[in-house]
Amino acid sequence: MELADDGKNICIFDVDDATLSNLPYYEVHHYGAEAVNSTALNEWFMVGKLPALNETLEFYNNLLKLEKIKLIILTGRRDDMEDVVKANLQEAGETSYSGSTFEFKEEERRKLVEEDGYRIIGNMGDQWSDIQGIHLGNRTFKLSNPLYYTAQAEGTDQNLYFDF
Ligand SMILES: [Mg+2]
Repeated sequence: MELADDGKNICIFDVDDATLSNLPYYEVHHYGAEAVNSTALNEWFMVGKLPALNETLEFYNNLLKLEKIKLIILTGRRDDMEDVVKANLQEAGETSYSGSTFEFKEEERRKLVEEDGYRIIGNMGDQWSDIQGIHLGNRTFKLSNPLYYTAQAEGTDQNLYFDF
């Protein structure tokens, strides 16, 4: 793939169960068989000790070596978790992301493309809602997640993806 060297290529990484793993939380909550306890889950998030998903970390590091793609973290986490997430990513090895946003994902992609002029080269996540809607990217990567499903955001009814 030929990439322009103008600083406008980005690859978007989702956080939960795409870049960092919540498996340690689910190990003590019967692997998703319990109803979600949002208080307990948020407490787990705030500890900031989620391990990296090694395959994603390898992908992340390979993209870094290309030096032509900025790596963007895009998560649906609450705004007040931003510092914890950033510290957790650093600790897990994702040390060179170019930015992080904690906004509604489709709207954030729209801003990145239409307002900031970025080209989304890649876009990855574990939920269909990560890779649905507008400005999906040249390639999308849907990771499997057998533990839970997050419904797509309202207004996103497309279902375009390349899955491998
Ligand atoms: Mg996720």
